[in-house]
Amino acid sequence: MAKEKRSLKKKVQIKKARAKKTKEIKFIGKVTKIRQTDPRTVIEWPRTITHVHTYGMLSPFFEGLRKGELRATRCPNPNCSENRLWIPPRAHCPDCHTEMVWKTLPNPVIGRIYTFTQVVYAGIGIELSTPYWQVDVEIPGLATIPKSYLLYGEPYIGMKVKAEFRTKNPTNTVLDYYWVPCEP
Ligand SMILES: [Zn+2]
Repeated sequence: MAKEKRSLKKKVQIKKARAKKTKEIKFIGKVTKIRQTDPRTVIEWPRTITHVHTYGMLSPFFEGLRKGELRATRCPNPNCSENRLWIPPRAHCPDCHTEMVWKTLPNPVIGRIYTFTQVVYAGIGIELSTPYWQVDVEIPGLATIPKSYLLYGEPYIGMKVKAEFRTKNPTNTVLDYYWVPCEP
């Protein structure tokens, strides 16, 4: 009996010695800030991520923006029901799935405001100061009415606008083109 007790004690000692050799888990993050506790606990938990994003076959659109050009895609299939231009561009035709071809719109690109809305709370990823005017602009020859923003001025339906480009310090996102009023 005494022998059994001794061996049990020895086993515990060995386990303790092994445990000491392993590293203790430590919290390596940043302690969150408590914003409120009443009526429920709310913490501020800052998060950052790097989103590696490929533009894939739509890369020419963003290359165009860097050069101050608005590029659109068009379906080359003569039997397709939609042969007008698309902005945002499509890699393949949404109607017949043929690979699209690229066309650069001649500058200046003039359009008319189809509709607009004021953005007060922009979503994450829209790094624009608020409030700003989000405008849907009709561009001649397009099948689509793309969304963008009005750099300055007050929009109204039917307003003539001109596309401009952020070629200096580009964001390399769709925010690199926008509209400005084009009226006397
Ligand atoms: Zn098509």
